[in-house]
Amino acid sequence: MVKISLQIKATLENIDVLRTCHPNYNFLLKLKCLNCGETSNKWHDIIESQTQKTKTGKSETHFLAKCKLCGRENSLDILEGTNGKYTGDDSGNFKGIVTFDCRGIEPIEFMPGEGWIAEVEESGKKFKDVDLSEKEWVEYDDKLKQSVGIYEFESQFLKLNKNQKVNIKNLVQNVSCILFILIEVMMDNMTNMYNTSFVSAALSKGWKYQEHAHYNKSV
Ligand SMILES: [Zn+2]
Repeated sequence: MVKISLQIKATLENIDVLRTCHPNYNFLLKLKCLNCGETSNKWHDIIESQTQKTKTGKSETHFLAKCKLCGRENSLDILEGTNGKYTGDDSGNFKGIVTFDCRGIEPIEFMPGEGWIAEVEESGKKFKDVDLSEKEWVEYDDKLKQSVGIYEFESQFLKLNKNQKVNIKNLVQNVSCILFILIEVMMDNMTNMYNTSFVSAALSKGWKYQEHAHYNKSV
């Protein structure tokens, strides 16, 4: 299972919130089979409110298909609760708006299409069924008496590290390991210092004794 985030980037003009009409939004995706590398030119519909039963019939999935080339059954799901908003503050930067749970396939292309909702806070206007097929959209807000728009729409996929938690665990382990080594080195140094001073003290003392004894003898 690989979690992949769909990120979007756009320039918003007088629009405060841009979001999909999930759970009814149709994410149009081109997919790649990870077993044989086959990429189809077909756009697949992935809609959160529509599921189909898996082969075993025990669970449901948002997308299930047999690869035409290698015959492997692959599936993809929209992770519940991952639908996000793109806001005016995000304008010009990439932001994840949904996460897919992929088994055997991964999305390689996204077509924005219809079904977007654009909100203007100041006028309270909500533009429903915004069509981003052309990757831009312009309208006029009669309450705001200004034009509103979405421009330079782009998208990308970001693989989310499934081992993020494990990595934090590793980091803690590594830091404690380094600390342990440091303490050991410090202890070693202290022991060495102690030993050196003890030896030098003993040596100088012994030397004095020897000198003394020799002196006594010779006298
Ligand atoms: Zn395949």
